[in-house]
Amino acid sequence: MDDNRDILISGASVAGPALAWWLSRYGFHPTVVERAPHLRGGGYAVDFRGAAHLNVLTKMGILDAIKARQTRLSSTTIVDEKGRPAARMPAHVFAGDVEILRGDLARILYEATRDTTEYIFGDSITSLDERAHSVRVCFEHSEPRTFSLVIGADGLHSNVRRLVFGEDDRFIEDLGLCVSIFSMPDSAGLDHAGLLCSVPGRTAGVFSAGDNQAIAQLYFAAPSISCDYRDTGRPQQIVAEAFTGMGWRVPQLMAAMRQAPDFYFDTVSQVHLDRWWAGRVALIGDAACAAGPGGNGTGNAVVAAYVLAGELAAAGGDNRTAFERYQQLLRPYVAKGQAQARSGKDFLAPPTAKKIAQLHRFYKMLPYLPVKALMKYLTTRTATGIKLPDYSRAETTSSGRTAH
Ligand SMILES: Cc1cc2nc3c(=O)[nH]c(=O)nc-3n(C[C@H](O)[C@H](O)[C@H](O)COP(=O)(O)OP(=O)(O)OC[C@H]3O[C@@H](n4cnc5c(N)ncnc54)[C@H](O)[C@@H]3O)c2cc1C
Repeated sequence: MDDNRDILISGASVAGPALAWWLSRYGFHPTVVERAPHLRGGGYAVDFRGAAHLNVLTKMGILDAIKARQTRLSSTTIVDEKGRPAARMPAHVFAGDVEILRGDLARILYEATRDTTEYIFGDSITSLDERAHSVRVCFEHSEPRTFSLVIGADGLHSNVRRLVFGEDDRFIEDLGLCVSIFSMPDSAGLDHAGLLCSVPGRTAGVFSAGDNQAIAQLYFAAPSISCDYRDTGRPQQIVAEAFTGMGWRVPQLMAAMRQAPDFYFDTVSQVHLDRWWAGRVALIGDAACAAGPGGNGTGNAVVAAYVLAGELAAAGGDNRTAFERYQQLLRPYVAKGQAQARSGKDFLAPPTAKKIAQLHRFYKMLPYLPVKALMKYLTTRTATGIKLPDYSRAETTSSGRTAH
């Protein structure tokens, strides 16, 4: 293969399709392979904060589509185990500048790329054999193919990372929490609001998702749990056991979990790697640097897609130069998000009744605090903490020259 235009991306959620969008823009030919048989819906609400995230979405021309599907969360009421309101949190504490369900975002990105990107659903890479000018790729179902470069955008438990860099336990840092998320009917009549209840070590929340749907979010402190995260039986049993005896709406949430079409369970974890690339393979999004809730993972993945594709175009396809520049630019930026997410752990599952009481007191004070200014300050420290390079020249000059 004598050019590097044919790029295989593993994973069709956020980072993968966003990267495909930018690669097509610069004249590369992206193919995306996704293990799920079709585009995965469902998932929690994710948000974009600050100029860097919004600028990339604007350049992609999808900010309006995202705004049209935003959750429009009004506020979240913190309740005790008897359902009595303890405090109310304004929307912008959670919702950033624009908040959207992960599944809706994935669909917008897919629709923006499907005409310029080959999508292969229901398949997965089984081996990567790097050669002088290409990578020979074998799949579970499709015939083997040859690509110039391969990018792993396949999330926390990245398949590409395992094949090229090693097993998960070398790179995944479990933050000592588990999370389960699923959709359910909005029987509480939430109407764009949310409810959140904590007891020591456990938090249950339910948030409006519009269209009479709600999203349940459950967090609980747990030492490393080993199970097949893609399964439902054993993980549901683990969640049910963890929430046994908790009051409020938890029994209804447990019943809804058993019926949920999109049950999700995982540890809350971060990914740390010394290098995000090796030869002709690179990682992006959670596969490279998952931060966990509160770490700006989604917005940062979109920024990373802009930078990785832009560097490849600017380097005329020289993958070594581009991958190294991409890593240098992004690493300090995502590290800030990772540090922020780490400090949010006690908020997700406060360990003691004392901590819960402290948090309630803090939430009660929020109406009297400059919350908007505080959130802006936090955003400036993390999500806007990157100067986006201007790759517009590469847009017109890129011709996908030979990789090294
Ligand atoms: C509980 C929770 C709450 C979060 N809340 C927020 C938030 O509020 N705001 C925010 O910005 N971020 C949030 N995040 C982080 C955010 O979800 C991620 O950072 C973001 O989705 C990164 O996207 P990604 O495309 O890298 O990975 P993912 O969204 O994980 O997508 C990976 C894709 O790869 C596919 N895949 C997996 N294995 C294979 C394989 N073998 N072959 C092919 N495809 C494969 C998967 O099916 C999936 O489609 C949260 C994360 C969690 C866990």
